[in-house]
Amino acid sequence: MNKNPVLVIKDLRKSYIPGKPVLRGIDFSVYPGEIIGYIGANGAGKSTTIKIILGLLPIDEGEITIFGEPIDPSHGDFKQRIGYVPENGELYENLSPAEYFDFLGILYGLSPETTERKAKALMKILGIDGNYHNRIASFSKGMKQKILIVSSLLHNPDILILDEPLNGLDANSVMVFKEVLSTLAKKGKTIFYSSHIMEVVEKISDRIILLVDGKVVADGSFEDLSAQNQEASLEGLFNDLTGFTNHEQLAEDFVRILEEES
Ligand code: ADP
Ligand code: MG
Repeated sequence: MNKNPVLVIKDLRKSYIPGKPVLRGIDFSVYPGEIIGYIGANGAGKSTTIKIILGLLPIDEGEITIFGEPIDPSHGDFKQRIGYVPENGELYENLSPAEYFDFLGILYGLSPETTERKAKALMKILGIDGNYHNRIASFSKGMKQKILIVSSLLHNPDILILDEPLNGLDANSVMVFKEVLSTLAKKGKTIFYSSHIMEVVEKISDRIILLVDGKVVADGSFEDLSAQNQEASLEGLFNDLTGFTNHEQLAEDFVRILEEES
């Protein structure tokens, strides 16, 4: 690919507790139009990587550039060009979507009219426009997740960073959202999609980066990785590369305990 990378990460290292590294030297570059599936078991370091990319956490060592510049959240362009769905999305729950989007629109430099028109139309597509003036606190998990998804996209960012974005979403909305992501990528937007749910990643990503204990152990298209490792599913590949091969045994032990005589 001869386009300039959107995101470059070089030898990224991070510890929360001295002597206990969480990221142990991560390297990759991401190009416009790519849908990256950033996968790994719980605790592998996915969310830590994402928070660092967003400038929410400092790095210990290494280099990151985004849009060719070092990370600088205070730079006006930075927020305008990035959309983010956080893993445990904190919303201002006392607000209604109307109030929340109004506030976000100001941050993104959108006019109140544009914010309202777009937010309502996007909520309508996701089936929650009837709740525009109700308090977010009264929403189900899936409805809150939809608000976060709309928030991340309202300003039409160039890179979308998603940390487990399908949490609590219904099957229909998942289908719409997957289609939205692939359409955005075709228009040259970059999607960085982190998840531990392999099934969805396998379907939407054109490149997979697998993190194990803070190191990248595989980076390539699903087709390449599955050919190299002779695995037909991403789940199988994941289990091979993370060394997790005893799920059948664990399940058997689990059920046997349930069946023990009291
Ligand atoms: P993932 O998103 O892949 O599940 P995380 O990046 O959230 O992984 O976490 C990676 C590791 O860092 C885990 O072992 C987690 O317990 C630890 N960790 C994450 N956040 C903190 C924190 N604020 N303080 C201490 N340890 C943390
Ligand atoms: Mg995480």
